Amino acid sequence: MKNAKDLGFFTRQVHAGEFDDPNGSATIPIYQTSTFRFKSADHGAACFSGEDNGYIYTRLGNPTIDALEKAVANLEHGYGGIATSSGMAAITTVYLALLGSGKHIVSHNALYGPARGVMETVFSRFGVKYSYVDTTNIENVRKAILPETTMIYTETPANPTIGISDLKALAELAHEHNIPLVVDNTFCSPFLQRPIEHGADVVVHSMTKFINGHADIVAGMIITANEKLFKIIEPVMNNMGCNMDPHQAYMVHRGLKTLGLRVERAQSSAMKIAEYLENHPKVAWVKYPGLKSHPQYDLAKRQMDGPGTMISFELKGGLDAGKKLMDNVKLILLAVSLGGVESLIQHPASMTHSKISHEKKLQAGITDGLVRLATGIENVEDLITDLDQALQKA
Ligand SMILES: *Cc1c(COP(=O)(O)O)cnc(C)c1O
Repeated sequence: MKNAKDLGFFTRQVHAGEFDDPNGSATIPIYQTSTFRFKSADHGAACFSGEDNGYIYTRLGNPTIDALEKAVANLEHGYGGIATSSGMAAITTVYLALLGSGKHIVSHNALYGPARGVMETVFSRFGVKYSYVDTTNIENVRKAILPETTMIYTETPANPTIGISDLKALAELAHEHNIPLVVDNTFCSPFLQRPIEHGADVVVHSMTKFINGHADIVAGMIITANEKLFKIIEPVMNNMGCNMDPHQAYMVHRGLKTLGLRVERAQSSAMKIAEYLENHPKVAWVKYPGLKSHPQYDLAKRQMDGPGTMISFELKGGLDAGKKLMDNVKLILLAVSLGGVESLIQHPASMTHSKISHEKKLQAGITDGLVRLATGIENVEDLITDLDQALQKA
């Protein structure tokens, strides 16, 4: 019952992954232990051979972490979850598992910066080849596939352009070539989008964002659509040692239980703020999947259960206006990240992407006046009042 896949989302976010605790604990206890006692030498041998599914050592498995893995895999409609120490650990584990020397990845050109940075600075040293193209246009991906391509990777909506890639079309293309489609679903969380339902083979999450949701933990998760991929990726995580800690798992699981409530609330504010910004004289344009002006509005409606909480907008005043806006918000926090209960704002051109060349910025859709806003769960009137006074100064 508890792990049934046909219960409603809110029921599953509370109960999926639970096991019957011998003491009747209402929540999953924290098994804060590095190792587990065997009942006998034979039992130890059976645990290692897999005949007995008893726990051995926390890097290899732990009841608190398992409960979270089962819960998130359930919400994503996947086969299994592999928890990691961070979102980047989830991404690099998937790279390590599915790429290799001489192999090639086709990836989105507008994605979470370090997911590309680690490819260009680290994986390239081990002979991995890459192509970064705009995956919102499937033809770019089709043209970039080589005989040695072993993975297509995308993020939708993408960071920070809010471009939407067609998951069904990408999955079909990947499967024509017998290669997996990997999707970073951080911006949506399983409440708004489940890539596996559209044919994706692997989903990665920075649970630091919506799933934990309280800006107090860094964590990641890999969800595979099938057993085969699970068996390829899980040992890589175990052996590389980028596992989650039981206390971290407990905290994320606590956050998960209110995921849908938080996203619904922040999303309704995002819609109102996007409309407010679209009518603001200092704003050149707004990109939000809930606005008809979004270039992939129809695709977003088909693929996502809601437009989300991430808004990008361009200030007419460019770099200077962007900085002024950052320096004048009072309630909205000037900080990177997203998906927490507090609203956050950042200006990529002067902050996250300030060291990148102007040309590369433009390629990734980062213009001088681009602002990224992640709504939290505060009262929307207060958020608009704050934006209003700060925009006056921008
Ligand atoms: C934050 C983020 C990551 C990286 O996650 P960490 O938990 O910070 O390692 C990856 N992808 C996206 C879309 C993110 O927003």
